[in-house]
Amino acid sequence: MNRYPDRERLAELWKVEVETFRVARPASEALWHEAEAHMPDGVPMLWMAKWPGPWPVYVDTAAGAHFDCVDGIDHVDLCLGDTGAMCGHAPAESVRAISEQLARGSTYMLPTADAAIAATLLEERFSLPSWQFTLSATDANRSLIRYARQVTARPKILVIDYCYHGSVDEAFATLDADGAVVERRGNIGAPVPPSDTTVVVPFNDVPALQQALAQLDVAAVLIEPAMTNIGIVLPDEGWHDAVRAACTSTGTILIVDETHTLCAGPGGMTKRDGLVPDAIVVGKTIGGGIPAGAYGMTEDFATQVRESLELEDIDVGGVGGTLAGNAASMAGIRATLGEVLTAEAYDSMIDRATEWTVGVQNALDEFDVPWQVTQLGARAEYSFLPQAPRDGAEAADADDFELQQYLHLHALNRGILITPFHNMALMCPKTTAADVERHTVAFREAIVALYA
Ligand code: PMP
Repeated sequence: MNRYPDRERLAELWKVEVETFRVARPASEALWHEAEAHMPDGVPMLWMAKWPGPWPVYVDTAAGAHFDCVDGIDHVDLCLGDTGAMCGHAPAESVRAISEQLARGSTYMLPTADAAIAATLLEERFSLPSWQFTLSATDANRSLIRYARQVTARPKILVIDYCYHGSVDEAFATLDADGAVVERRGNIGAPVPPSDTTVVVPFNDVPALQQALAQLDVAAVLIEPAMTNIGIVLPDEGWHDAVRAACTSTGTILIVDETHTLCAGPGGMTKRDGLVPDAIVVGKTIGGGIPAGAYGMTEDFATQVRESLELEDIDVGGVGGTLAGNAASMAGIRATLGEVLTAEAYDSMIDRATEWTVGVQNALDEFDVPWQVTQLGARAEYSFLPQAPRDGAEAADADDFELQQYLHLHALNRGILITPFHNMALMCPKTTAADVERHTVAFREAIVALYA
């Protein structure tokens, strides 16, 4: 069986799904026409134009694992705001804490008692003692990159080929066919050529990493413990030990970005797999639905950072922001980590992801379709490859935008949202077995349409 479907058949099936969408979503269409006059593509943030279908779905309300669009259609949300809502939509405990704080003021540029509680909760999960807060994971990564350059006095950042860490200039670099560092496709208005700032190695390539760090010009290695932004790519046995050893022997700061891999357990992959980073980044879901990011540092790294700063210049150094660490974010983190994303919640989320994975695998097996599905805790993803990829380039090569758009629109028309960037599903504490079953049934239908 060819892993890609017949193109004519795919084009016909696409047309049918587009028509189904058009008929079912007139209220979204009307809002889109109004919005288009004031915003490019009718959306407040450009990624929202990447959904499949002729116009975006406008949301009315959401709770737990579901949302209703303005046309009154109920959806099982397996995208969950691309992890922003991994805690579920509007979790009662977070909503209460945030609302109470909003009513008492939320942005004073002064700390509240919740800040220390939030930092303590993060320390318990990730075993790092020193925390700072931002409004996004992007900002947390940017801050750590600056601090790493500051304390090591080295110019470069090492990232993994096809990584994603937010809109961080240094991270929009890939390797070309000759192994040279080049701009990632689609990179918008790069300030300088990425080869000036960035070293790139493939995931799971220990010799390449060791060779790169031996140049002693890398301030920090910035990695996800498993790749999650080009499909899921899991680490080989020994990869993380080798990364840690190479960073230690070369005096390089190791930053582990757990923004997505927080799906692996309450302390991400760091806690689950016993990783030993110098710094950790988290964000997206930790605020329970409002903007919040955080980064943690070892005592040694935090001390070096603090000793390198002059209090007088602290507000113009390029780290921090007016709204960062605001009282509403702190209340959100306190409630979400303390009461929503609990160990018990993870047990259920991971069970649901396992059911989703089995459902997809069964449909693939039934029709002999050579695609693979990989689970990472509460997250799972299929890709158009016969076996799990070992690095980002292999995962990227398998991509098929038209096929992906079709599968996503097919799901959307059956009341299921999957993340638009790849074929990923994420479970929240409120996702039920029936929610997963809705996807299993629809996915099998799509496979039948494509291959049977
Ligand atoms: N790190 C990782 C691993 C991410 O996947 C993302 C977003 N997809 C970010 C950082 C940036 O998050 P944000 O856009 O919320 O700043």
